[in-house]
Amino acid sequence: TERTLILIKPDGVRRGLVGEILRRVEAKGYTLTSVELRTADDDLLAAHYAEHEGKPFYAPLVEFMGSGPVLAAIAEGNRVIEGFRALAGATDPTAALPGTVRGDLGRDWGLKVQQNLVHGSDSVESAEREIGLWFPGR
Ligand code: ATP
Repeated sequence: TERTLILIKPDGVRRGLVGEILRRVEAKGYTLTSVELRTADDDLLAAHYAEHEGKPFYAPLVEFMGSGPVLAAIAEGNRVIEGFRALAGATDPTAALPGTVRGDLGRDWGLKVQQNLVHGSDSVESAEREIGLWFPGR
């Protein structure tokens, strides 16, 4: 069955939204098979966000993502990659539709990085790559 990597970013953990976000994933019917809270170091974040290196928001993104604990999880289920991205909503939390995590729980805080609560892998290849980074051996 398909797998995806979910991250609840430091803004979501700081705001106490871990339970609410995981509740939505489970209520949708996906299975959480690994869950870990930890503060990512620069090496992990550089590997995770390699595709964004050189973009103007890259340095603030890595700084933000390392600013506190992140909840990393593996979720499983048919088409979970597409399904979690639908649950998460659009990247920009202001534009994200109500009913989504970002649309219901996020907003623009006027910062250099869009603090948008969650990350979800965007393809089977990136899911397996990202799971290998956050959960080596799984
Ligand atoms: P994620 O990969 O985290 O699920 P995404 O696929 O919706 O998000 P990406 O385009 O992969 O978005 O960007 C990764 C992250 O970088 C975004 O979630 C956001 O936190 C930040 N980001 C992306 N674009 C911008 C931007 N233009 N300005 C500031 N931050 C941005």
